[in-house]
Amino acid sequence: MADCIFCKIARGEIPCAKIVENEYALSFLDIGPINAGHALVIPKNHYPTLFELPDEELAACAIMVRQVAAAVYKAVGAAGLNFLQNNFKAAGQLVEHAHFHLIPRHYNDGFLTSWPGKAYAVGEMEKMLEKVQAQL
Ligand code: AMP
Ligand code: ZN
Repeated sequence: MADCIFCKIARGEIPCAKIVENEYALSFLDIGPINAGHALVIPKNHYPTLFELPDEELAACAIMVRQVAAAVYKAVGAAGLNFLQNNFKAAGQLVEHAHFHLIPRHYNDGFLTSWPGKAYAVGEMEKMLEKVQAQL
């Protein structure tokens, strides 16, 4: 994709604070970190979301996620770490090239301060299970 910012980073056309790379995946520091050390892992090839990522490239990203997550966690002395991935605008995706966020966390850092879980009505969880399994 000619005008995709992460494709340009993957091709070396614009700079990044590169952490590590391999044949399929690249990791660099997020330019607008939630907390210092916030890193991204991207596939080098362009896929808009998680849904298009081929198995081999997803596996390369996942292995790099684990490696970089551990490095960031230790480097910043974090108390925790979130692995997040946004798909489509409704979920907060701004860059339409699939990517994985690694966000080191500290107590009272103000991010994700609530997890507003809801309850299923009686019988609705079972119905949902069937609907999801029908799409596999
Ligand atoms: P998302 O909302 O999941 O699409 O997140 C996109 C992320 O990419 C944001 O956290 C941005 O700060 C980050 N980002 C955008 N441009 C760059 C860039 N040139 N270098 C590093 N990170 C970037
Ligand atoms: Zn791209």
